[in-house]
Amino acid sequence: MKIAIIGAGVSGLAAAHHLQHQGHAVTVFEGRDRVGGNIRSEWIDGCLVEWGPNGFLDNEPATLELVREIGLEERLVQSRQQVARRYVWRAGRLRLLPSKPQAFLTSDCLPFWQRLRVLAEPWAAAPPQGDESVYDFARRRLGRGAADILVDAFATGIYAGDVRRLSVASAFPKLAAMQAEHGSLLRAAKAGGGGGHRSMLHSFSGGMQDLVDSLAKGLDVRLGQPVQTLPEPTQSEGYDHVIVTTPAPKAADLLGGEAARLLRRIPCPPVVVVALAFNDPMPVDDAFGFLVPRGQGLRLLGTLYSSSIFAHRAPAGQRLFRVLLGGRHDPEILELSDDKILTLVGRELRQVWGVFPDPVMHHVIRHPLGIAQYEIGHRSLLQEIEAACPDHLRLAGSSFRGVALNACVAEARSWSP
Ligand SMILES: Cc1cc2nc3c(=O)[nH]c(=O)nc-3n(C[C@H](O)[C@H](O)[C@H](O)COP(=O)(O)OP(=O)(O)OC[C@H]3O[C@@H](n4cnc5c(N)ncnc54)[C@H](O)[C@@H]3O)c2cc1C
Repeated sequence: MKIAIIGAGVSGLAAAHHLQHQGHAVTVFEGRDRVGGNIRSEWIDGCLVEWGPNGFLDNEPATLELVREIGLEERLVQSRQQVARRYVWRAGRLRLLPSKPQAFLTSDCLPFWQRLRVLAEPWAAAPPQGDESVYDFARRRLGRGAADILVDAFATGIYAGDVRRLSVASAFPKLAAMQAEHGSLLRAAKAGGGGGHRSMLHSFSGGMQDLVDSLAKGLDVRLGQPVQTLPEPTQSEGYDHVIVTTPAPKAADLLGGEAARLLRRIPCPPVVVVALAFNDPMPVDDAFGFLVPRGQGLRLLGTLYSSSIFAHRAPAGQRLFRVLLGGRHDPEILELSDDKILTLVGRELRQVWGVFPDPVMHHVIRHPLGIAQYEIGHRSLLQEIEAACPDHLRLAGSSFRGVALNACVAEARSWSP
């Protein structure tokens, strides 16, 4: 079959690789002059700066299988073992998150009575009919404190989203499945071995760019070719199938009509990433990073300690960090100049760390269409969108059935015409 794929992000490239492997003739059209979409790794002043994802977890097989298929295992790198320490910002201080369930009761991630409330999770009220927000789900099962702090931070880390709008069934289907199968998250965790295997983050020696560059090598990718209108099967191109892997608002521009109206209901708020390098020593420990729940007095969403997570990301004697801002609560961040963003980041990091030395490198990265939000009603919205699309067209990519890299790759590899 002749298949056109629109978008050369990881979804489009992984789908093209998979379909070509099955013997189909695949062409990928990409609007920009480079492959990767959100994925981009760049060496700046000796630091390996990630624009988008900094890695993928090994708790799903899809990406690791793809890596093996394209012979990229040699470049695979794993996050450093000692970097298990993660923090949440609460009541004006960084609080260490417990790394094991046994450490939860003695941790200060929540006040004592709120930690006790979490232990009552198996006796939570029954779920309501229909879709439930992540916040309502968390408050019902774990209590208000855990919902406001821990679950808000968790959703911020993945979606930069609003827990009161995200749908638990669409945004965190594993949690919904744990509830459905075991009637309790704690019982489900116990049945699953209580978190025996700790998922590790993986990337590549040249950063995530290695994955998309390597995938693109064996494919027919046409760069600098933004598709304006959807190729019809009857037109001269004669494609049997078209797969659109762009973010939902861009897919809406392509499709028009009822499908476009529905696609515009999937928000993709902007995300801004600020990469900063400092000379060591710094009074900041060797950790994974910290997340900031909403309502805790900071505009930052969180900070990843990039050179602690992976070795060889900064020159000797320097440390590299990535600060995240924007998301569903704060799309206005995109309107600030780089200088204003840097001033804001400096002020808030000084509040968190107690210091903010002059950075030896800084770089502001803007993603106007950052991360898709799977909000209440997302599943039924997808069904309506599918019904409004022509038969030869398939929508794939991070706006629809999973934002994590593993989910994008798994979906791309699941389809055959
Ligand atoms: C800051 C940030 C951090 C993230 N961190 C992580 C992480 O640590 N782990 C993780 O698993 N996930 C992470 N994600 C999510 C993950 O990066 C994305 O879900 C994934 O990269 C999306 O890939 P995609 O191919 O579906 O879409 P995209 O990467 O958006 O690719 C779509 C492509 O379509 C192209 N395009 C758009 N319109 C047209 C057109 N009309 N014609 C032709 N081409 C077009 C675009 O130029 C783009 O190249 C992060 C995302 C962001 C923004």
